[in-house]
Amino acid sequence: MIKIENLHASIDGKEILKGLNLEVKAGEVHAIMGPNGAGKSTLASVLAGREEYEITAGSVDFNGTDLLELSTEDRAREGLFLAFQYPVEIPGVSNINFLRTALNEIREYRGEEAVSAKDFMAMVKEKSKLVELDSKLANRSVNEGFSGGEKKRNEIFQMAMLEPKLAILDETDSGLDIDALRIVAGGVNALKSDQNATIVITHYQRLLDYIVPDFVHVLYNGKIVKSGPKELALELEEKGYDWIKAELGETV
Ligand code: ADP
Ligand code: MG
Ligand code: MG
Repeated sequence: MIKIENLHASIDGKEILKGLNLEVKAGEVHAIMGPNGAGKSTLASVLAGREEYEITAGSVDFNGTDLLELSTEDRAREGLFLAFQYPVEIPGVSNINFLRTALNEIREYRGEEAVSAKDFMAMVKEKSKLVELDSKLANRSVNEGFSGGEKKRNEIFQMAMLEPKLAILDETDSGLDIDALRIVAGGVNALKSDQNATIVITHYQRLLDYIVPDFVHVLYNGKIVKSGPKELALELEEKGYDWIKAELGETV
């Protein structure tokens, strides 16, 4: 699905990603954890194609395509979804009209037929149920006046509607109460298939009680420094990140 090799990225001349390697295959859920400032959001932003970042070395192969050569729009059309990609409020554009346009653009890009109004409404009904999103919110202007929890659920609703190949969720858990967390995680789990993959970026282990990853990686100082099974998340929760630094031979 995605293969990141020796990725180096800087912002304002400061190197943040320092040779990051990560491979995610279809059907897998990967969690990326790490202390504040490690570069987790930078990784998500670089994959999304945000222009402030300068890629100084490395490559990212996304299903056989050089991801770094694609515009942000084409990355989405190729099936990459970032949970923070559409959190903007868009007054005057209803959530569902926005999604219908986005979905049909993706389908057109893939040479598929546009979704009919009837099928689209059936999708809205099914997917909004998945995240327990009030159907009234689907009809309201995108994110306008949504609470924090509603915005997060709406992100997962958008993800469900757009059926991405690879979804990257950056701290989707921050600011969620347990109910919202459970719903968001339930949505992510329900969308899991052998055709798609998810990267869950989180500072806390809590979300991983609900989204069970196949692999956990520690991002520290711009690199993946440790990878392991889901139990690694529990170990990190229990011991913090200092033992990783010690393992790396750094003074704590
Ligand atoms: P994380 O998501 O792991 O907490 P970030 O990727 O947000 O970490 O940040 C990594 C490092 O990059 C931090 O030291 C942060 O201060 C720095 N950084 C992030 N964005 C910018 C920016 N726009 N300008 C300068 N430094 C930045
Ligand atoms: Mg942070
Ligand atoms: Mg972050």
